[in-house]
Amino acid sequence: MPERRQITVRGIVQGVGFRPFVYEAARERELAGFVRNETRGVSIEVEGDAEDIDAFLLHLRTEPPALSHLDSVDVSPLPLQGESGFRIEYSRSTARREALIPPDTATCPECLDELRDPADRRHRYPFLNCTRCGPRFTIIEDLPYDRQNTTMAGFELCADCRREYEDPSDRRFHAQPTACPACGPELRMEGADSGAADVNVSRFGASPDLVRAAADALAEGAVVAVKGLGGYHLACDAGNPESVRRLRRRKGRDAKPLAVMAPDLPSVRRLCSVSPREEDLLTSRRRPIVLLRRREGNRGLAPEVAPGNRDLGVMLPYTPFHTLLLGEVGEPLVMTSGNRSDEPIAYRDADARERLAGVADLFLTHDRPIRARCDDSVTRVVCGDVMPIRRSRGYVPEPVPVPRTLDEPPSVLAVGGHLKNTFCLTRGRHAFPGPHVGDLENLEAYEALEDGVSHFRRLLDVRPEVVAHDLHPDYLSTRFAQELADEIGAPRREVQHHHAHVAACAAEHGVTEPVIGVAFDGTGYGPDGAVWGGEVLVADLRHFRRAAHLAYVPLPGGEAAVRQPWRMAAAHLTAAGGGEDELLESGPARRLADAAGSVRWPAVRSMLREGVGSPPTSSVGRLFDAVAALAGLRAEVDFQAQAAMELEARADAAGDGGAGRPAAGGKSGGYPTGVYRDDESGLRWDPAPLIRAVVGDLEGETSVGTVAVRFHRTLASAVLELCRGVREEEGLGTVALSGGVFQNALLTEWTVEALEAAGFEVLLHRRVPPNDGGLSYGQAAVALARADREEPIPVRPATSAASARNGIGREDAPCV
Ligand code: ZN
Ligand code: ZN
Ligand code: FE
Repeated sequence: MPERRQITVRGIVQGVGFRPFVYEAARERELAGFVRNETRGVSIEVEGDAEDIDAFLLHLRTEPPALSHLDSVDVSPLPLQGESGFRIEYSRSTARREALIPPDTATCPECLDELRDPADRRHRYPFLNCTRCGPRFTIIEDLPYDRQNTTMAGFELCADCRREYEDPSDRRFHAQPTACPACGPELRMEGADSGAADVNVSRFGASPDLVRAAADALAEGAVVAVKGLGGYHLACDAGNPESVRRLRRRKGRDAKPLAVMAPDLPSVRRLCSVSPREEDLLTSRRRPIVLLRRREGNRGLAPEVAPGNRDLGVMLPYTPFHTLLLGEVGEPLVMTSGNRSDEPIAYRDADARERLAGVADLFLTHDRPIRARCDDSVTRVVCGDVMPIRRSRGYVPEPVPVPRTLDEPPSVLAVGGHLKNTFCLTRGRHAFPGPHVGDLENLEAYEALEDGVSHFRRLLDVRPEVVAHDLHPDYLSTRFAQELADEIGAPRREVQHHHAHVAACAAEHGVTEPVIGVAFDGTGYGPDGAVWGGEVLVADLRHFRRAAHLAYVPLPGGEAAVRQPWRMAAAHLTAAGGGEDELLESGPARRLADAAGSVRWPAVRSMLREGVGSPPTSSVGRLFDAVAALAGLRAEVDFQAQAAMELEARADAAGDGGAGRPAAGGKSGGYPTGVYRDDESGLRWDPAPLIRAVVGDLEGETSVGTVAVRFHRTLASAVLELCRGVREEEGLGTVALSGGVFQNALLTEWTVEALEAAGFEVLLHRRVPPNDGGLSYGQAAVALARADREEPIPVRPATSAASARNGIGREDAPCV
């Protein structure tokens, strides 16, 4: 029986070779009709034998192209037209844009073969790509996804490329960014003109082979700014301590670990141990940075790359240009974001030239413009699966589903937090977390947020109906939300920081029921004005109640205490001493007093005595700082979480040795958790017994590694006891672990072991980061869940764009 049917396919179906796939599938079964891209997806009409159409549909649903992702396939009958032959029609815009844009994808095996084949016309061409790989999100200006709507619009296809582009049986059929040496982008080398060069680079630019010239310059110690997919990298020889120090000095980055790009898997294995799951991740088409355990000895790696760290962030080449460069160098390169200090990554050529002039000796760039800034993603394998630490290139702009609470949910824009900022825009039941913006501490970051939001609004073709933001009145993100909400006439929704963390974790698992939310991090604004960060919540997507928290201690000097962990040690010693000075006279305290100096130490002690300039905090991040400082690891830090990372590294090292992994949830060898139930105020968590025990250990013969192990074990036990306490009261059996502290793989694994052994179901972050990079998604989930009811919008004083741009964030954000 002949039939004709209309098929609409939605999901990631454009720019992934979907139409040629449909074309082949239809021709194989001798079906007539056509396929075309529309802004809402792909539209197909087929005519032929009903059985053949069914087989065609089955094939479509079960074996779509590798990079595609089908959200829905809708089929409806049409009258017969008696058509013959199958064709691909040109794109047509329809009113609503529902097509999903693919993320940028690592070079595919076929393209790599061509790159290495001396007989191929694209041999060693740094910009080759096809429908299975290459740039997407970072070059797309607008939809529909056609070449004229990308930054490849200015490159006219040569006759050979056009033939491939128009041939439905070719891998490059409608490959929008396709190019070859005859018609595509070109590499360009420019010297730094700032006089910053420590390496004489003038001779390199004259070479006919710029990749080889760059490799030579790197081998001689140069710092090279390299234009990639979503921005510029700063590259240098990872085995050359002098180059790495120079890069750090010029970039203004003292100690934060730098990521490395290795030529291939064997060279990764020389640096780090790699599990099968980690290997999958390293070689996946998303090609993120993976945090791996370093091998002893660090052969071939300068210690300056990741000082004091047991882990190393490693990635493999993901563009043909990287493959050529790393192939030529043959050794790992430092490949870090092209920026100074904490500014957003540079991606426009003129801007990069200006901002990186004093940092790079050489610029290896090209003439394919980058439309959207997109940093490398960072991942870690925790409890056997992927945990995103930074979700950006290779993932963005793929959607993350949000649980459906309404039939027609409004579009929500959530603007995230202050540090590791991302935004998130929703359309229907999809949330679209944006790329990494960074810390909102300067004008560049604020503009990156503005630009990112307006680009996403255009690509997704949505006008936000609700704007969600943090409770903190002085965050730049809050000001941005206020201005935007006023401009577009949308209501605002405030979402508490730790509620957003927990909601993010629950929502990504599709959980809408109440959970026990354990949110541990450095800083988040509490409704009581305190600095929260050690929270046990009973929460669903709409509401939360604080069931317990780490008892408040003063945060002496506010922001200063974040940079100077010795202040937190003093605060915890004072609180744990209960009015006695004994702890403050102990050996570990005296060492800190010496480090802080004869002016600052007494000043902070009197601050603590008088309670001035010291907002209360329940932060577990700061508890890590205090213990690390007491253990003599860090009196001061260069970046957030540095002390905590070193404490984890020490525990990890000791845990691997004779001590072995402690029994899950067991008390042996741990410190007292300080968790108890108070008849009047319920579940309490007091850090004092832990602090006293740590001091006792450190005064004796106990090693720092053992103290670190015991501290981690105690925290895991505390979480277990707290969750048991909440389960007794509320009968809840699901625990969501969120907040930056749960990037700590050791703590997370021990906590999960303990909770699961006690019968809890545990949710970990698998789609968005547990740190503040995941806040925007959580804010969006909360705002969507609350969308069906009118809630009063608290009145805040309006602020002007000018005041926001004059750096308010630097003075009074992020936490006090
Ligand atoms: Zn390819
Ligand atoms: Zn060409
Ligand atoms: Fe946080």
